Amino acid sequence: MGHNTDLLSKETILEVLKTSNILGGLSDETLSKIATFSHEETYQPGETIFVEGDVAEELYIVKEGEAALDINLSTRPGSVRRGTVDTVFPGEAFGWSTILESRFAMSARAVSTTKAIAVDGEALRSLLAQEPQICAVVVRQVLDIASLRLSHTRTTLAHFLSVASHDLKAPLAAVQSYLQVILGGFVGELNEKQKEMLSRSCVRIAEFIEMIDNILDISRFEVGAVEMQELSLTEVVRDSVEMLRPLAEEKKLNLTQDLPQEMPKIKGSAIRLKQVITNLVGNAVKFTPSPGEISVKLKEDDGYLRVEVSDTGVGISTEELPKIFDEFYRGVAGDTEAKGTGLGLSISKKIIEAHGGRIWAESPCPETESGSKFIFTLPKDKA
Ligand code: ADP
Repeated sequence: MGHNTDLLSKETILEVLKTSNILGGLSDETLSKIATFSHEETYQPGETIFVEGDVAEELYIVKEGEAALDINLSTRPGSVRRGTVDTVFPGEAFGWSTILESRFAMSARAVSTTKAIAVDGEALRSLLAQEPQICAVVVRQVLDIASLRLSHTRTTLAHFLSVASHDLKAPLAAVQSYLQVILGGFVGELNEKQKEMLSRSCVRIAEFIEMIDNILDISRFEVGAVEMQELSLTEVVRDSVEMLRPLAEEKKLNLTQDLPQEMPKIKGSAIRLKQVITNLVGNAVKFTPSPGEISVKLKEDDGYLRVEVSDTGVGISTEELPKIFDEFYRGVAGDTEAKGTGLGLSISKKIIEAHGGRIWAESPCPETESGSKFIFTLPKDKA
C-alpha cells in the first residue's frame, strides 16, 4: 500500500487512544494493553487506506490530518460513482467493521497528509470477547458515533435532494416553455410534421419532470418525516376521484364512488394521501379497456379506515402480484403502456406505511371476479 510504519513511543499512541471518541472512556490499564497491539501509519494526500469489501483487519484512529469515507454508488449497471459519506478528523475512529470481524462497509482515503493509529483487529476482538465491561463501553461509544453519522448522512441527503430537484428541473422547465412558445406559433409558422414532433417532445419532457419528482419522492421518504394534520378521508377520496373523472370519461369508463356520510377524522397528510388515491385510480383507468367499471369505496373497520379501488381491467398475474410494489417494477400490462416509471405503487406504499397503514392488491377482484382490487388501511386517530 506504500505507507510508512513509524516506530513511535507507546506514550504517544496511548495519548491518541485516550482522546479518541471510540476508546476514550476506557481505563489507563486497558488502553496500555491496547497500545501494545497498535502502531502508527502515515498516508499521503489521496492515498487509499482501505477499500470497501476488503477484510477489515485494523481499526483506525486519526491522529493528524483527515480521511474521507466513501461508498460506491451504482447508478446503472456498469457505472460506479464514489460518494463521500463522511470525513473523519483527529480523535475520530473509522473502520469499525473490524470489531465485527467483517469486511469494510466503506472505503477510506487520506484527504491531506494523515497519520492514524491502527489497532490490530484480531487482538482487539479477543480483548473485547474476554472483558464484557470493556466491550460494553466500546459498543456504547460505537453506537453514539454511528447515530451521529446517520443523522449527518440524512441531512446531507436532504440537502442534496433539494439542490438536485431544483438543478434537474430548472433546465427542463426552460426547454418546456420554449417548446410551448414555438408550438403556439409565436415565432413563426410550423408545418404539421414539425408541430407533431414538438408536441411529442413536450409530452416526453413533462414525463421526465414527473419522473424526477417521483425519484426525489422515494428518497425523501427514506429521509423521513411526513407532516400530519387532522383531515377528513372522505374529502380526500372525493377530491382525488373527481380530479380523475375527466380522464375516465375520456376513456369511456364508468367511475363510481361509495363514501359514507359520517367518518371519524384521521391524522395524515392530505397531499400525500391524494397522491396515493390518484395513483391507484390512475392505474385503474390506465389498465382498464372500455367498456369497464372502476369503483372507489371507503369503509370503517375496527380501528381502521379502509379504501378500496377496484377495476374490471386486464388484472395482474399471480407471479406479478408480489412484485408490483417494488421500485421501478413495471408489469406486462405496464410495459405495453407508454407512460409510467414503475415508481407509483412503491411511493404509495411508502406513504401508507409512513401513516402506519398497510396496502396490498388482489387479482382478480373477489367481488367481480375480474380485473384488480387495491386496498389500503389507515389507523383511526386514537385521541
Ligand atoms: P407504472 O404504472 O408507472 O408502470 P406502478 O408502480 O404504478 O407503475 O405500477 C406497477 C405495475 O403494476 C404496472 O406496470 C402494472 O403492470 C401493474 N398494475 C398497477 N395497477 C394495475 C391495475 N389496476 N391493473 C393491472 N395492473 C396494474
